[in-house]
Amino acid sequence: MASFPELQPSARVLLGPGPSNVHPRVMKAMLSPVVGHLDPDFVSVMEDIKKLLRMVFQTSNEITFPVSGTGSAGMETALANLIEDGDEVVVGVNGAFGERLADAAGRLGAKVHRVEAPWGQIVETERLESALRAASHPKLVAVVHAETSTGVYQPVEELGELAHRYGALLVLDAVTSLGCVPVEIDRWQIDACYSCTQKGIGAPPGLAPVTFSERAMETVRARKQKCRSWYFDVAMIERYWGPDRLYHHTAPISMNYAIYEALRIVVEEGLEARFKRHAANAAALQAGIQAMGLALAAQPGYRLPQLTAVQVPDGIDDAKVRADLLRMFNLEIGAGLGIFKGKVWRIGLMGESSRRENVMLALNALETVLAAQGMEIARGAALVAADNSYTRAA
Ligand SMILES: *Cc1c(COP(=O)(O)O)cnc(C)c1O
Repeated sequence: MASFPELQPSARVLLGPGPSNVHPRVMKAMLSPVVGHLDPDFVSVMEDIKKLLRMVFQTSNEITFPVSGTGSAGMETALANLIEDGDEVVVGVNGAFGERLADAAGRLGAKVHRVEAPWGQIVETERLESALRAASHPKLVAVVHAETSTGVYQPVEELGELAHRYGALLVLDAVTSLGCVPVEIDRWQIDACYSCTQKGIGAPPGLAPVTFSERAMETVRARKQKCRSWYFDVAMIERYWGPDRLYHHTAPISMNYAIYEALRIVVEEGLEARFKRHAANAAALQAGIQAMGLALAAQPGYRLPQLTAVQVPDGIDDAKVRADLLRMFNLEIGAGLGIFKGKVWRIGLMGESSRRENVMLALNALETVLAAQGMEIARGAALVAADNSYTRAA
């Protein structure tokens, strides 16, 4: 008979595009007893999760809860509930996740107007406005806040107001931004937003926090056709997460324990402190990377703190570098996606993973591995640059 070994995955330093490292308190929470999904003890956890999510999304939206599934499930939820056949939808496409949004909107029957920008650059607000003006009845605009494939930080503060001026809703992909940089749903007038647990929040993958504004819910209630997705129908899920407690599907109990504890940690740290920590560690990493002679893929002024895309230098074997980092330093970084495959590395400093010791480890490890591949590197320069960055920030 075949024998199957006990699971023994290594405890890695996760500096890729997600999952990021999980706080031990979150792992401990997941060991709590599994109870019935309508058990009063679980119902009180559900209520607290909604309150915590409103704090982190900076919203008073009633409809705010974690969808069962990963970040992409949050995307499907936002789009499937707002789009009906033939709706005109404007999508900013400047990387793999903008592509995913456009693809998903098209599958749901939307007529998609793509507003493209080169990978590594933002989608200019004026170009989104032109597309809104050109459309006859734009239903919504969708953009990616943190384009994880390129490291670009999309400005979105004014897009809600802009979309509303054209009678459209604003949908925001905050999968890589929630918990790392400000996501101010109410102040920025965002109508639907989705995220995940495994990037900035510090829990394993498995849930997708979503929030819908009152304006978005009016659109949902005025639908002519039922939502195309049974599983992600927000009106049905709301009757489960809301006071009716009407069974829709079984909430993943242990994952909800995980997001509860992870959000508790986010709120304990404080949003401002958390954003400052992400900014300081990213400044040090990016200073170090550039001191090493490597180039960043995102345009200056619009670089994410939680994800840095680094151009793979000529003559360097992308896959071998990543394999060596894993083997020699127990360190995971991400490969390039789509047209950036083989061209960039993606270094994440998200949530629990955004720590000074991880920045120093990553820089030292990269120097070592690149020097071993014959790249001329002033050894130690990256560490000095990072150190100076921390001194300036202090
Ligand atoms: C990771 C990511 C997604 C997809 O999330 P999954 O949890 O992998 O389904 C969507 N958008 C962005 C910007 C992402 O970084």
